[in-house]
Amino acid sequence: MIQLFHVSKYYDRRPALSNVSLAIEKGEFVVLMGASGAGKSTLLKLLIAAERPDEGQILVQGRNVAKLRPSEIPYLRRRIGIVFQDFRLLPKRTVFENVALPLMVQGAAGGEIRRKVAEALKAVGVDHKREQFPSSLSAGEQQRACIARAIVNGPIILLADEPTGNLDPELTSEIIELFKVINARGTTVMVATHDPQVMAQVNRRIVTLMEGKLVADQRLGS
Ligand code: ADP
Repeated sequence: MIQLFHVSKYYDRRPALSNVSLAIEKGEFVVLMGASGAGKSTLLKLLIAAERPDEGQILVQGRNVAKLRPSEIPYLRRRIGIVFQDFRLLPKRTVFENVALPLMVQGAAGGEIRRKVAEALKAVGVDHKREQFPSSLSAGEQQRACIARAIVNGPIILLADEPTGNLDPELTSEIIELFKVINARGTTVMVATHDPQVMAQVNRRIVTLMEGKLVADQRLGS
């Protein structure tokens, strides 16, 4: 599903990632741990071709991501949903419109958009907020709306970059449970975080980065 072979990425000749090799199978739930600056965001950016590696290879479903032509990148991004710490919802669009956006960009038909957005909003539990603007939602609801936007295309991979960074422990727990449900339906999930609560609650596979190096890869309980 996802393979990195000896991947390095430098910013100003300083390594953000250093010789990282990693294989993730379909259906896995991986927590990418590491302190701030460890290289977690860089790794996620490489997977969606928002950055290119300086060394090594990255395969997503057998395709070499670093070699994609710019015109091929939107197709990659349809197969990978991404969620950020700071939500990134458009403030002047309703929840429905925000979640519909990836489908509209692709030129999907109105009926398909309505059906898929309704499904995604129901799956994350904010269907009742569909006509509201992001500012009238709680932080937890905003993150749920972001997750709806990330899954509306039925991605094979869901990436999340510190998705609970703006949430208290209770909301963090709810969001992680939601990721588990999405994972149980077959989506490969990778959550980058420095929050030990997330690691403990997921309790699956933990990959740890330290100063750009992969220093541990542990498989835990359930
Ligand atoms: P994390 O997500 O684990 O906090 P990052 O991947 O954001 O770590 O950053 C890894 C390292 O790369 C840090 O030292 C950071 O300062 C550096 N870095 C990340 N993005 C850039 C950039 N666009 N320009 C320069 N340095 C960067």
